[in-house]
Amino acid sequence: MLAETVLLAEHEPEVAEMSARYLRQDGLRVHLVTDNYFAALGVGAIGLDPAAHAIPTDGWLRAADGVWALGDVTGHGAFTHISMYQADIVVVAAGAANSAKLLLNSANDAHPHGLANGSDQVGRNYMFHNCNAVVSLSKEPNETVFQKTLGLNDFYLAGGDRKWPLGNIQMIGKSNAGAMKGEEPKLTLLAPRFSLDDVAKHGVDWWLTTEDLPMPDNRVTVDGDGDIHLSYTATNDKEAADLYAELKTILNHVGMAEHHVLDKNFYMSMSIPVAGVAHQAGTCRFGTDPAMSVLDTDCKAHELDNLYVVDTSFFPSIGAVNPALTAMANALRVGAHLTTRLG
Ligand SMILES: Cc1cc2nc3c(=O)[nH]c(=O)nc-3n(C[C@H](O)[C@H](O)[C@H](O)COP(=O)(O)OP(=O)(O)OC[C@H]3O[C@@H](n4cnc5c(N)ncnc54)[C@H](O)[C@@H]3O)c2cc1C
Repeated sequence: MLAETVLLAEHEPEVAEMSARYLRQDGLRVHLVTDNYFAALGVGAIGLDPAAHAIPTDGWLRAADGVWALGDVTGHGAFTHISMYQADIVVVAAGAANSAKLLLNSANDAHPHGLANGSDQVGRNYMFHNCNAVVSLSKEPNETVFQKTLGLNDFYLAGGDRKWPLGNIQMIGKSNAGAMKGEEPKLTLLAPRFSLDDVAKHGVDWWLTTEDLPMPDNRVTVDGDGDIHLSYTATNDKEAADLYAELKTILNHVGMAEHHVLDKNFYMSMSIPVAGVAHQAGTCRFGTDPAMSVLDTDCKAHELDNLYVVDTSFFPSIGAVNPALTAMANALRVGAHLTTRLG
């Protein structure tokens, strides 16, 4: 009888044998499968068809109770293959949500709460920006093609009447009628003398970014099946609303009357919900205090000497500007550190 068994296809012998070796070290019974071997293995005893050319599996590659099938033997194609890589130094860069997921799912006896997570900080302080997309209607046609050229940081910092920073205003890609189509009723209601094409032609598009604050309870977790979950409560809603008000005030001065400033509502609502996240960060923040951060200032895990995380997970705060350049600059910085470390 087969129990706690893994069946591996032998069509790629090197990969299959290497995988089998490591799985056997973990105490699993592993069988490399060929067509001839399939029936001899006695798979009929566990409800599989010995005459079949492939073993059907569920989403976890389970073929039967206590039996998993990996590789060509499942008949699902290349993506069912497994491979293993080993290195002296491991650099994780799977994105803020998935890097946390990877570390949390990598729990073992030495790291029961996940890799680098003795502090329970992995996955916490998830941030994704409090964003509003706005299309304003110019009285003049806007013939611009490449519109994403202007950014305003006049409200970025606190000061004057502003107790808290409001964030960044920038232009985004030009609206077109096709993209706006789903919201035609509202747009044409707000601008009844315009057709949808007119709205797009006169549209001037803005992206408003307000900082999302790092909150320990805004966090990525994984459940017993290894699936990812996100708990998230928005921060800085008032500051985001105040930034929108500042934009409308500016536009009133440049010929775009207040009642012509519309939500860019093919995003469904003016503010971009977590379902529309583009800028996620913070789940493995760096810092000098191992109790409050996952990584040291070289982006190496406090608790492990050979694990680095270099995507936007390392952000201790997200600011109010697009994150990609910061992630790239930091990756180059950590790369220089690793080059030195590796000699
Ligand atoms: C629609 C959109 C527009 C954006 N516009 C801008 C912009 O204008 N300016 C800007 O600065 N930023 C922008 N961003 C944000 C920017 O793309 C991200 O901040 C940046 O890509 C994050 O980099 P990262 O390395 O953290 O993660 P990612 O770029 O997401 O890279 C993570 C990689 O890891 C892979 N991966 C995940 N899990 C695993 C796994 N288990 N094993 C192996 N690989 C895995 C993923 O497939 C992915 O390739 C935008 C994002 C979106 C979605």
